[in-house]
Amino acid sequence: MDGYLVNPKNTIEILKKYDIHFQKKFGQNFLIDNHVMDKIIRTADINNDDCVLEIGPGIGTMTQFLCENAGQVLAVEIDNNLIPVLKDTLSAYDNVKVINGDILKQDIRELSETYNNGKPFKVVANLPYYITTPIIMGILENDAPVDSLTVMVQKEVAERMQAGPGGKDYGALSLAVQYYSEPYLAANVPPNCFMPRPGVGSAVITLKKYAEPPVKVNNKKLMFDIIKASFQQRRKTLINSISNYSGLNIQKESVVSALSEMNLSAQVRGEVLTLEQFAELSDKLGK
Ligand code: SAM
Repeated sequence: MDGYLVNPKNTIEILKKYDIHFQKKFGQNFLIDNHVMDKIIRTADINNDDCVLEIGPGIGTMTQFLCENAGQVLAVEIDNNLIPVLKDTLSAYDNVKVINGDILKQDIRELSETYNNGKPFKVVANLPYYITTPIIMGILENDAPVDSLTVMVQKEVAERMQAGPGGKDYGALSLAVQYYSEPYLAANVPPNCFMPRPGVGSAVITLKKYAEPPVKVNNKKLMFDIIKASFQQRRKTLINSISNYSGLNIQKESVVSALSEMNLSAQVRGEVLTLEQFAELSDKLGK
């Protein structure tokens, strides 16, 4: 690991050489732990047929390992101060292309046409935490050509993504992620694995995208509006949350009869319904 940036000594040296100051506004926490790096690369299951899309390469710490394992790496970094650094730290690799830009403004389908013959990417990233959810949901909801996402996120967010019905972590994010993908929480990562140390714990999670969603629903938008309504005030009954939600215009009586047809109690709360049950409820209320 001597020559790699994952060795903190090398990271410090590069930061000094280029007079780089961490930009909090871009969520810059660089990885400096060899075991975590190894875990990410193994979990992402990368081989030389793969084209990896890395979001936020930073100074290139993870990019170096991605270049060694993948066929091709496309890295999108927002901070233009880091572009000359990446040129230096990735100079040994000829299978990487760095784009200076905001990932939220990239058309991932167009990137796949340009850089991967229209084939899907594997996304691997130590994500900037301030925009974790928009990045992940943007990729999933827009049906971007991506097979899987292996990402470092805030620990609580990873727990919410893979939570099942009944627990405190279960909510709209769990259902949205699980409609599009199968989550697997691969590792918890403490703050001392980063420079600078973030104020929160982190976790590596893999989301394997489904070819087809695991449930069928007539109106996806309606189902997600119902889910949003159900979790906006978690302690309310489903009947009240749905019928009081201004974005929905659904009468109380309709919810009462739909729940009764589904053999669910009138007192039931959204937090115990499975994705299948939300799909069924949505189809009944959408009639
Ligand atoms: N991959 C590096 C590592 O593991 O050490 C850096 C990870 S750091 C947590 C997040 C990186 O994402 C930073 O380099 C930051 O500048 C970049 N970033 C932040 N917002 C971004 C955006 N909207 N688009 C692309 N990159 C972004």
